[in-house]
Amino acid sequence: MTHTGQSLDHERLLVRRGARSGVYSVIAIHSTRLGPALGGCRMHAYPDVSAAVDDALRLSAAMTLKAAAAGLELGGGKGVVCLPAGEPGPAGMRRREILLDFGDAVAALDGAYVTAEDVGTNAEDMVVVAERTLHVTGLPRSAGGSGDPSPFTAEGVEAAVRACCQRTYGTRDLAGRSVAIVGTGQVGSALARRLATAGVELLLADVDPAARRGLSDLPHARWVTPEQALVANVDVLAPCALGGIIDEDSAAGLRCAIVCGAANNQLAEDRLAHVLAARGVLYAPDFVVNAGGLINISHERGAGYDPARAHAAVAAIESLLQRIFRMADLGGITPLAAAQRIARRRLAAAAPTAWSVTGSGGEAPPASADPEPSPASPDSEPSIARA
Ligand code: NAD
Repeated sequence: MTHTGQSLDHERLLVRRGARSGVYSVIAIHSTRLGPALGGCRMHAYPDVSAAVDDALRLSAAMTLKAAAAGLELGGGKGVVCLPAGEPGPAGMRRREILLDFGDAVAALDGAYVTAEDVGTNAEDMVVVAERTLHVTGLPRSAGGSGDPSPFTAEGVEAAVRACCQRTYGTRDLAGRSVAIVGTGQVGSALARRLATAGVELLLADVDPAARRGLSDLPHARWVTPEQALVANVDVLAPCALGGIIDEDSAAGLRCAIVCGAANNQLAEDRLAHVLAARGVLYAPDFVVNAGGLINISHERGAGYDPARAHAAVAAIESLLQRIFRMADLGGITPLAAAQRIARRRLAAAAPTAWSVTGSGGEAPPASADPEPSPASPDSEPSIARA
């Protein structure tokens, strides 16, 4: 297997062929500096295992930033089940065997990695994984968990859209705003419903016609192709499908004022944050915008799950983003650089946790290595601390 180019500052990488299914599980632990590495299990068909490893490495690094920026006592990790190329989502006994194999891989890490559902898996799948390991979150309510995190992620995206509108238009009121949602899956559809209730005009797009099901009753909503949505003249573009949607070409064609959505790793490269800023497009860092599900799940750990406290913590994404925009203004840096700085400073200040492996693993570079100028405002305390 060749590794195709992700940076390797991760603590651990486990690649394990399932004894039952023959399917590879990949678990990347980027950092346990702030706590156990929590990240969902993505089940997806990849051209080869190397591509799945790259995905796990990239996604786990983003989880470190996400948890750190949100003020959570969690590290960054990600699980990937590498389905053979062309295999559709498995069902029945094969799905069960794959999930049990993944559960064994999680168990082998002794709590340094904690899993949950992600693209391609759901809360019921986590019940199967839990047959093999205790280190599972996102279980259904009936199994004592907090259920599907997607509605919380969508709630956080709405909070972030309000912060962006406040910054761009001087009001957080969304009535009459226009938003194009690309990807109307679990998060995108919940976001569409929330925004419709707030009086937003929606452009909706998905590659899968089945994703229209359940959204036909929305007022002020129109379906377009993903390509049309990307160049639509709207207030907000909300990427809610897979990553990399903003590359050099698509960045040049954007006609929205704001990019703010749920998808992980929306920018093909970080430097595109500068390209968007130069074009006058406000980019809300994805790992801040889409932290709602993780924040909710973090409330499952510890002393009993309280939905009211979880909702309040998710709503605080709005004030965190406002603080990031202020910091970006004061420092003359992009909101992405400001959010990364908040996360890295928190990581740099943290003492090693029980899960930390010898000084490696997603450790942030010292603040002095940050190429961006320092902002005038302090950013020492995290904005969404767990209650
Ligand atoms: P999902 O699989 O339910 O939905 C994704 C949707 O995007 C699907 O309907 C799919 O058909 C569509 N899609 C795929 N490629 C597309 C394309 N090129 N153009 C348009 N549509 C396309 O996934 P989800 O749980 O809704 O997550 C969406 C994104 O948000 C992912 O990037 C995920 O990593 C991220 N995210 C999700 C959560 C969560 O709580 N589910 C939390 C944080 C981040």
